Amino acid sequence: MWYDTDGETGRTRRRRSRDRPPRPSSRCEMEKDYNRLNKLLDEAESLCAAQGTQLTQLRRLVLETLLTATGPVKAYDLIDTLRAKGHKLTPATVYRILEFFLQNGLVHRVNALNAFVACSDSHLPAHNPLILVCPGCQTTTEINDEGLYTTIFNRLGALGFEIKDGTVEVRGVCRKCAKEDIT
Ligand SMILES: [Zn+2]
Ligand SMILES: [Zn+2]
Repeated sequence: MWYDTDGETGRTRRRRSRDRPPRPSSRCEMEKDYNRLNKLLDEAESLCAAQGTQLTQLRRLVLETLLTATGPVKAYDLIDTLRAKGHKLTPATVYRILEFFLQNGLVHRVNALNAFVACSDSHLPAHNPLILVCPGCQTTTEINDEGLYTTIFNRLGALGFEIKDGTVEVRGVCRKCAKEDIT
């Protein structure tokens, strides 16, 4: 899915990307997105149930907001978005819900952007992802590769380094931003 920005950059990008998938605009595409969102929320509900917890209405609302965002969301932007939708959640409530999702792996913290992103593999139990961060367009890509993780953890363990937070973040330039840079 492509999220073109407005302004000159966005227009230039659209002209160069005739072969890319278009933005979801038709009713059919919107329906597909809606079905996908519901599928992800249902998966999240099953995961919570399997862990003996519940995807309450408020938790579902927060997760839905993160799943429909175009990238990681800062906590205060999340609160503002919820408020704009008519849900006045206190910061304490939102942080508590985020903490719940961080614990069960449905959301990941992106320290490089000081933001939160919905997990891209919502059927996975709590896990340690590798997150590629592009500060240019403020987007992330999640990679779950157990072999890669075992290598990193074993290497760090051999150095006597105690891991506290298993998420590995790598900052860089995404393909989209790199393409814009050379033109
Ligand atoms: Zn994940
Ligand atoms: Zn980028």
